[in-house]
Amino acid sequence: TGATPPDGAPFVLAVANQKGGVAKTTTVASLGAALVELGARVLVVDLDPQGCLTFSLGHNPDRIENSVHDVLLGDKRIDEVLLETEDGVTVLPATLDLAGAEALLLMRAGREYALKRALADVADRFDVVIIDCPPSLGVLTLNGLTAADAVAIPLQCETLAHRGVGQLLKTVRDVQAITNPELGMLGAIATLYDARTTHSRDILSDVADRYGLAVLSPPIPRTVRFAEANAAGRTVLAGRKNKGATAYRELAQSIRAHVADGAPLVTWAAE
Ligand code: ADP
Ligand code: MG
Repeated sequence: TGATPPDGAPFVLAVANQKGGVAKTTTVASLGAALVELGARVLVVDLDPQGCLTFSLGHNPDRIENSVHDVLLGDKRIDEVLLETEDGVTVLPATLDLAGAEALLLMRAGREYALKRALADVADRFDVVIIDCPPSLGVLTLNGLTAADAVAIPLQCETLAHRGVGQLLKTVRDVQAITNPELGMLGAIATLYDARTTHSRDILSDVADRYGLAVLSPPIPRTVRFAEANAAGRTVLAGRKNKGATAYRELAQSIRAHVADGAPLVTWAAE
């Protein structure tokens, strides 16, 4: 299975941006499913109390007994909570309970390490772990970044895409300084991209320049197929051939080659 780092531990990727609606959850599910197609054993982690990742993979958060909440608080073992999905990824699900975890974790020692500790228990079962961070920079996102080998930042190609990126990068540097010196920056993922306008391209190169961020290739085009897939509880890869699925498959190949063989990531450059 290509995506296994040499030492046998899974490659752990946090997908983070405190802005909502930039396709974090979509990226985690679609990239996860694409890596499964490439033969990797993939765990996706829902760290958002809204449970959108859980729901989009066919599990209703309202009907789930135990969740990532119980795991973070040490009340359940991670393997008691994991769910399988039709797309072939395993999910550590979230429910609304997680909204209270923030406050409960704040009173605990080592609160940033709760997810990292839990993932260690299933390290031999997965090649890749992808973490869907919530739209905030609180203790849940800190748990995601602390558990990760690398972080990827989805950016919607619209005006003001850059707002908050500086703050997010500062949080990443704090984590690198304090709880996770090994955390690497994979780069930005351009989402909801409209290739027909120069506007999307200008915004991307502006953000990349301003923050010295690599933009991974390919950009993910805007297509209605994502909404359709969401409603069906499947990822966009499960449907008919479409440009959204193709883009995530290409991205998965680039990331897999990078992790498995140290190949340079394919990055996007403004023409
Ligand atoms: P986040 O997790 O950052 O809040 P989501 O992944 O939930 O963002 O995406 C927000 C909305 O945008 C969802 O309705 C999703 O279906 C839609 N979406 C995501 N990516 C695309 C895309 N490439 N084209 C069209 N719609 C998309
Ligand atoms: Mg989300």
